[in-house]
Amino acid sequence: MSHTCVKCGDQEECHYNEKTSADLTARQLCFSCDFYWRFLNDPVKTPNRHHHSTAVVAGGNIYTDGGNVENPGDGRFLGFAGHRFHFRMLDGSREWVSNNVWHGGEIPQIWRDEIPDTAEIVRPAPV
Ligand SMILES: [Zn+2]
Repeated sequence: MSHTCVKCGDQEECHYNEKTSADLTARQLCFSCDFYWRFLNDPVKTPNRHHHSTAVVAGGNIYTDGGNVENPGDGRFLGFAGHRFHFRMLDGSREWVSNNVWHGGEIPQIWRDEIPDTAEIVRPAPV
C-alpha cells in the first residue's frame, strides 16, 4: 500500500515492517518525515532515537549528547568518534562540552519552522 506524504509530497511505498508501515499510513507521512514527526511527537524518547526532550538543534542539525565520557580510553564507542562539542543553549540556560555527541541529521527545510534551533555550537572545543 502506498500514499503521498502530506508533509513533503513524496510517494511512500511502505516497504517496511508491519508496524512502521501502519504508522506511516496512519500519519500519511513518508519514512523521512516520520523521523521528524516522531522527534516532535513521540510521548517518550525511544532508546537510540533522537527526541526533542533530550536533543539540541544547532545550525539546522539535530544533536543528542550521550553524556561526556571522562576517560574515553575504555573502548566505548563515542559519538563523532569522541570529537568535543561546545554547546550553548540560545536561551542561555546551559553551556557545556561533550565528547559523546550523536548526530541526528540535517533537518529538511520543510521541518525547520517546527524544529528551530535551540542551541549554538560555540567554537571548536579544546582538545
Ligand atoms: Zn515526507
